[in-house]
Amino acid sequence: STTPTQVDAWSLPEGEARVRQLFAARFGAGADPGAWSAPGRVNLIGEHTDYNGGLCLPIALPHRTHIALRPREDDLIRLASAQEPGAVRELRLADVAPGAVAGWTAYVAGVAWALAERGLPVRGFDAVVDSCVPYGAGLSSSAALEAAVAVALDDAFGLGLAGSPQEPDDAGRTVLAAACVRAENEIAGAPTGGMDQSASLRARAEHALLLDCLDSSVRHVPFDLAADGLALLVVDTRAAHSLVDGQYAARRATCEAAARTLGVASLREVTPGDGLAAALARLTEASEDPDTAVRRVRHVVSEIERVEALVELLDAGRAQEAGPLLDASHASLRDDYEVSCVELDVAVESARAAGALGARMTGGGFGGSAIALVDVERVAQVEQAVAQAFAARGFAPPAFLVATAAGPAT
Ligand code: ADP
Ligand code: MG
Repeated sequence: STTPTQVDAWSLPEGEARVRQLFAARFGAGADPGAWSAPGRVNLIGEHTDYNGGLCLPIALPHRTHIALRPREDDLIRLASAQEPGAVRELRLADVAPGAVAGWTAYVAGVAWALAERGLPVRGFDAVVDSCVPYGAGLSSSAALEAAVAVALDDAFGLGLAGSPQEPDDAGRTVLAAACVRAENEIAGAPTGGMDQSASLRARAEHALLLDCLDSSVRHVPFDLAADGLALLVVDTRAAHSLVDGQYAARRATCEAAARTLGVASLREVTPGDGLAAALARLTEASEDPDTAVRRVRHVVSEIERVEALVELLDAGRAQEAGPLLDASHASLRDDYEVSCVELDVAVESARAAGALGARMTGGGFGGSAIALVDVERVAQVEQAVAQAFAARGFAPPAFLVATAAGPAT
């Protein structure tokens, strides 16, 4: 058998050196840009809850997107990315608008646009990015890019929102996260819910971020699995999820229609137990497609409960007992929300069969990554088993990383 592929994180100095070198190559050696970076994230539990005003529980990954940026006096934006070979892309800040920017530069220019829309003094800039966050793998390379741009513009134009690395300003970072969400929703055209940007900008090292999407409030929940002899194994299935943009929007639309039918502002208002039973009865009577509405709502409401249950376990130092919650989350996402795929199911099932305490898909679904809670001594064994299961099915080889809770954009 072969050694399973590992996705290594760069050190901060390595990432900074890479973008400084790329900046010099693209914009001239005399220039002296500033350098910043922002993490990808992995969500422990609370999937497809953010746009329902629910709870989620991501951690920031040690894997980061790095940026070197120099502010300009005019409104020209010039961009290059190590992940997107080709000529330097050029656009004007004044020309950025919904529908006007195609491709990856929308994630960058969109952040500048959203900050300017708030009346903040942002102008043009030259910037390059390089990243070790797996691309399009459900680990939020998009929010890592947006958040890196946000803290870079905050510092370069003196917006004063991010605070210092020693003392991050959470209120200011909430404003930056909202600008990143607008960039992704309105300029890049991806109708995602906001968890990713908060994770990248507001998480803390050694903590999971309990994010309440109803009011954007957060609580930092201690998260140190190594102390319990456990590890969080992330499996990047390498299954593409690019053709399913419409599926995400469809899930969102079904949830919003259900909330309207129930006469609530968001599904967060549906309480578990009797509240859920009454809501499902009402949806059965009043929905166009009752079976679908019932299943989607049952996922959202039960998933929010599972977030609370996992937080309770972590607070009590009982992470060893979290496996069944991860398993239940996966079953709900597969059967009720219908956002899993065969690669994710195989990753989850083969990890469990090799001794993982629990496993589930993470992120939006239809590909991307799965997570498994694993005894530290069993990590290699679980990786082997998942890699072998993929090979046996003829899937592309998966990639692995062991996630720890790292620090936010800075
Ligand atoms: P995920 O966020 O799960 O990685 P998305 O589809 O949301 O997947 O975001 C991936 C997209 O974000 C890429 O196709 C690209 O447009 C943009 N992107 C992310 N990181 C970079 C980067 N380093 N350079 C250029 N574009 C990037
Ligand atoms: Mg994304």
